Amino acid sequence: MSIEANLNKIKSQLPADVKLVAVSKFHSEEDILEAYNAGQRIFGESRMQELVPKYQSLPKDIEWHFIGHIQTNKVKDIVSCVHTIHSVDSLKLLNMIESRASIEQRQINCLIEVHIAEEDSKYGFNIENCKDFFAQLEWKKCIFAKITGLMGMATDTDDEELVACEFEKLKNLFEEIKARYFSDDPNFTDLSMGMSHDYKIAVDKGSTMVRIGTSIFGKRI
Ligand SMILES: *Cc1c(COP(=O)(O)O)cnc(C)c1O
Repeated sequence: MSIEANLNKIKSQLPADVKLVAVSKFHSEEDILEAYNAGQRIFGESRMQELVPKYQSLPKDIEWHFIGHIQTNKVKDIVSCVHTIHSVDSLKLLNMIESRASIEQRQINCLIEVHIAEEDSKYGFNIENCKDFFAQLEWKKCIFAKITGLMGMATDTDDEELVACEFEKLKNLFEEIKARYFSDDPNFTDLSMGMSHDYKIAVDKGSTMVRIGTSIFGKRI
């Protein structure tokens, strides 16, 4: 199927209020333009060396999302390209985004990455550390790096019950944090969960933003 047909199929399955991030890492500018010409405007990248050239040569009304791990020496380049960063996993990184965004006088939406899967990962807060991070309130000093939600990845498994359970945990954490810290902030709305193989479960569990690559663009080489 064509990229356009894939996109239309996925969009027809998503509730209207769920945002689709088309994950274009490892895919060409031609492929991205094909999706763009089919109406897609939000694209996700996970590597700086791909994001910067794509940002420079593709249409300027694309909303770029950074979904990969961020090395602190790359914050400057990322901040000048992106609308949203899905992978904020330390106060230090948030503060670095803040200081760069304040120099550029632009708001960057930041999602706090939470580790919910069974696989070990160096990245992301676990649920307890995430609660501590919010309780310490240091994040409130950030004005340009605006926390708009949470991001997580479920275990890569065929066990749909486990995946559903992990997404539910993240949804519950999202609701708890929203009620406690963002009751007067209408911008805390992004619950980024769900990829090609598990987005239907994620949407079922309350995802507001899915990150889909393979089901749109095909396998990455
Ligand atoms: C690559 C990637 C995706 C997309 O994965 P697909 O299985 O191709 O849909 C989503 N989220 C993150 C963080 C990724 O790195």
